[in-house]
Amino acid sequence: MKQILWFRRDLRIQDNKILEKASNEVLPIFIFDKNILEKLDRDDKRVTFIYDAVLALKKSLQSLGLDLYIFFDTPKNVFMKLKKEGFDEVLCSSDFDSYAIKRDKEINEIIPLKRYLDSFLINPRKNLKRDGTPYKVFTPFYKSLSWLSSSDKIGEAQINQNQKLYKYENKTPTLEELGFKRADLPEFLKKTPQNRLNDFKEKVEEYEKNRDIFYKDGTSNLGVDLRFGTLSPRMIFNEIRKSNKKNSEIFIRQLFWREFYNYILFHFPKSENENWKNIEITWSEDEEDFQKWCEGKTGIPIIDAAMRHFNKTGMMHNRLRMIVSSFLCKNLLIDWKKGEQYFAKKLLDYDASSNIGSWQWAASTGADSVPYFRIFNPYLQSGKFDKEAIFIKSVIPELKDVDVKLIHVEGALKDKYISPIVQMRYSRDRAIRVFKEAKNAKV
Ligand SMILES: Cc1cc2nc3c(=O)[nH]c(=O)nc-3n(C[C@H](O)[C@H](O)[C@H](O)COP(=O)(O)OP(=O)(O)OC[C@H]3O[C@@H](n4cnc5c(N)ncnc54)[C@H](O)[C@@H]3O)c2cc1C
Repeated sequence: MKQILWFRRDLRIQDNKILEKASNEVLPIFIFDKNILEKLDRDDKRVTFIYDAVLALKKSLQSLGLDLYIFFDTPKNVFMKLKKEGFDEVLCSSDFDSYAIKRDKEINEIIPLKRYLDSFLINPRKNLKRDGTPYKVFTPFYKSLSWLSSSDKIGEAQINQNQKLYKYENKTPTLEELGFKRADLPEFLKKTPQNRLNDFKEKVEEYEKNRDIFYKDGTSNLGVDLRFGTLSPRMIFNEIRKSNKKNSEIFIRQLFWREFYNYILFHFPKSENENWKNIEITWSEDEEDFQKWCEGKTGIPIIDAAMRHFNKTGMMHNRLRMIVSSFLCKNLLIDWKKGEQYFAKKLLDYDASSNIGSWQWAASTGADSVPYFRIFNPYLQSGKFDKEAIFIKSVIPELKDVDVKLIHVEGALKDKYISPIVQMRYSRDRAIRVFKEAKNAKV
């Protein structure tokens, strides 16, 4: 029996099901997928992160007496070539987004695929309601999984020692050969995944208190590891649970939001491109407003600071994601899909299901989304979560010497900053009217 171990979004050797299930002559591979890479900017930060993670994985596999063969091609071409070497099956982790489902179907016809649940805690095919339909609301979904969320430990995969490397000739491409420039990554991503997890163990006690305060480093910063599988969700669950059982509840609940959005996108694949709720909203087509939002030039300090920081680093704190998405969909009345695509292009922890689910949440069009009349006021948000304007001033040099009180009051900055592109009261009333009309049209 000859097996290909296809690493995708599980770039680790710890708790990796394919390394547990493999027991024969194996060829571990990673494919830099031309179908995906050709759509990205040449200085995409994620490619630098993945490139380094893949090389680290190669080293770890070598320490087990194995190796990692790295290809730069389409998956179809790679497997057509490998089929000639007489492989019987491909072991890989399950990947549930629409491109992955299509890709896996195609590969399965070349060499049979065996998939294992490794990037998520639950298989979205399972865990249906009693009537056989999927959950649509987070709280009952989460409650139905209390057997898992309240457990002390979730079983992890162990490495099967009976594997033998199938020797293969191929050369690892450089980042430049893939067509990319090395991008500057935020400092925390220069650490090892395990060190990031260890750092968070020190902070978990304060997570609940600090997680909304975006100028503090109060969250786990593990989104990128979860996205690319440099840490498994089971390992994160287990280590956080073990380190601080009492204070881990809120954090674990967040991990299940990730499960929920994966589950929703799996059961409602159309929600990738359509409002999950069957409502039609007359969105604004104002391209200038959208560009100003993208560039962080709206004249509203918190929005501009969040977007400028995002453009530079590829990172945005959850509370800021909530504020800028609400502002785009409600105050500017711009279609959530445009914001979703902009995030998809730059977000280091971009994950289709969480991004689509969260954008639809903000736009009040999604599963268990915010009611349409609950619209964040960005000035109140910045006054509450960045009272001293520490974050805002760190990003917007023009505001460095401005009295903080003026920063959180609409209209107070006058000639000290760009004029706001929209008034809060007017845009709030407009959004409520448009959403009401959209809803009524369906009644
Ligand atoms: C408009 C918008 C877009 C978003 N896009 C993404 C995305 O593309 N990818 C992504 O992973 N998250 C996304 N989120 C959710 C959340 O903002 C990030 O998961 C979080 O900021 C990552 O930082 P952290 O790891 O420090 O989070 P922590 O607070 O430490 O949370 C730990 C983990 O739990 C999960 N999680 C936390 N909150 C959420 C949530 N609301 N929804 C889903 N999962 C959650 C993530 O995997 C996260 O890494 C989005 C939120 C909004 C409002």
